[in-house]
Amino acid sequence: MNYDYIIIGGGAAGCVLANRLSENPDTQVCLLEAGPSDKKNPLIKIPVGIIALMRSKSYNWRYWTTPQKALNGRRVYIPRGKTLGGSSAVNAMCYTRGHKWDFDHWESLGNKGWGYKDVLPLFRRSENYEPGENEFHGVGGPVNISDLQSPMQVSKDFVKAGVEAGYPETDDFNNDVQEGMGLFKVFQKNGERFGAARGYLHPVLDRPNLTVLTGASANKILFDGKRATGVEISRNGKTETLKANDILLSGGAINSPKLLLLSGVGPKAELEKHNIPMVHELPGVGENLQDHPDILVVQKSKRWQTLAFSPKSFVWDGPIAVFNYIFRRKDFLTSNVAEAGGFVKSRPEEEIPDIQFHMSNTRLDNHGLDLTFSIGYGFSGHVCALRPKARGRLTLQDANPASDPNIDPNLLDHPDDMETMVRGVKAVRNIFAQNALKSWCNGEIFPGEAVQSDEEIRDFIRRKADNIYHPVGTCKMGHDDMAVVDDTLKVHGMQNLRVIDASIFPTLVGGNTTAPTLMVAEKAADMILAEKNAAVMAAPTQTAVPTA
Ligand SMILES: Cc1cc2nc3c(=O)[nH]c(=O)nc-3n(C[C@H](O)[C@H](O)[C@H](O)COP(=O)(O)OP(=O)(O)OC[C@H]3O[C@@H](n4cnc5c(N)ncnc54)[C@H](O)[C@@H]3O)c2cc1C
Repeated sequence: MNYDYIIIGGGAAGCVLANRLSENPDTQVCLLEAGPSDKKNPLIKIPVGIIALMRSKSYNWRYWTTPQKALNGRRVYIPRGKTLGGSSAVNAMCYTRGHKWDFDHWESLGNKGWGYKDVLPLFRRSENYEPGENEFHGVGGPVNISDLQSPMQVSKDFVKAGVEAGYPETDDFNNDVQEGMGLFKVFQKNGERFGAARGYLHPVLDRPNLTVLTGASANKILFDGKRATGVEISRNGKTETLKANDILLSGGAINSPKLLLLSGVGPKAELEKHNIPMVHELPGVGENLQDHPDILVVQKSKRWQTLAFSPKSFVWDGPIAVFNYIFRRKDFLTSNVAEAGGFVKSRPEEEIPDIQFHMSNTRLDNHGLDLTFSIGYGFSGHVCALRPKARGRLTLQDANPASDPNIDPNLLDHPDDMETMVRGVKAVRNIFAQNALKSWCNGEIFPGEAVQSDEEIRDFIRRKADNIYHPVGTCKMGHDDMAVVDDTLKVHGMQNLRVIDASIFPTLVGGNTTAPTLMVAEKAADMILAEKNAAVMAAPTQTAVPTA
């Protein structure tokens, strides 16, 4: 089989492409996914299953960073989804897009057609926004966006406390203002996760022109000169070669640059270091890594209505919640564990929100990997700096496709990022100190009362800060020397090869990254199909020659 398109990676972007490109029954599309099918694991559907998926060996790549210079040399955990739907199958389901400024910024960097006015219709097209259609939202699109089924009282009180602290309240973080405190809209339908696979892929799995291979790990892209011609994969213990006219790389911000490097496309020195024959020198591959640095302020709770491992939750709350989930799709199993949040300015001179809150209705430390920390009631205020100035990089450990790459997001290695986080910690503490949370707060676990001065807060941040799962930028779109793809997402200097996923973001958006990744893939599908139609129109028409 010679496919028209091979899509490498069945994640958020890959599912969009598989759907849009296979709409034409004459187009043969193959989607490769390294992980298993998402249908095999019920925890993907049940929102609170995120707690288990965070540590899953089968559905999560479970990466770790290199020692982080600005975090006292600590390594931090980088979970990434490994299944159909990718990280949208294991994520926290918060539906935010970033600020309109972010996309106008992308355009101002020279990326034609990526301004807010251009991308807003694509955001609208990708969603079925349950609250209803308006200027910013669409209905009838593939992914379902809803309110939470059973938001907990502590989440609602966090929003109230934010308003008491002086921030505005909003019921939509995705309008052109963004600023405010509120409950997140979520990628859910009727209390079930509704990620990219459910929205884009499941409805089209029976298309005869769409081949979906799970457990199919791409080892490298194959080239004829500078033209991509196929992919070498490992599947069921065997190595196979698949051929296609176009290769679309959607492995995500960690695995897309890794695969380009393994295939001989990247910085010369990096390829030489691992004896990988160079197909094309492209210094930006793996560079420009950005992620949202995150810090948690954790409170013990006086009240029992938070998520916790306790005798009461096992004996009483748990069984009731299971009943309520099975029969009503309600109660805490529908929780995304980050129900409330906010986008605010950490100081008056900021023009747009520069920090985001995610309020976890549980005691959280180290991504919940240490569950003993969640024994006992509590809640945790995440704060992240939305537009970090630190830049990191991704390189190879060796030339073995099975090895994890070296991931260095270089978190907080810029003084401005650190100061934003210091203001953020103070902002969360201020919210926790308001009346609306008085009946809840029962003593701060982190940073702890002893931590008060700015220097003590900086020291706490260096000891505890982490990432909040939004790596981007490692195959950045642009036209400078470090750009990997152009604004049609074609790899510079190569033919028949595009990168389409969160790795192409030139800069991190001020918000969560699934919705903008879906938007990127929607736009890519439009560009690919427009090119194909133009080629068909340009092809000389065959006129029949009459025979005597
Ligand atoms: C724990 C967590 C919480 C998050 N919370 C939120 C949130 O609340 N809201 C939000 O908007 N975003 C959130 N995100 C981020 C969001 O999910 C990602 O930004 C988004 O899914 C990125 O899409 P992508 O297509 O670039 O990559 P992914 O969705 O990660 O997809 C990449 C896919 O490629 C596959 N793949 C990789 N390498 C290969 C290979 N060699 N061969 C074959 N297949 C391969 C992977 O297995 C994966 O399925 C979260 C992420 C995580 C991990």
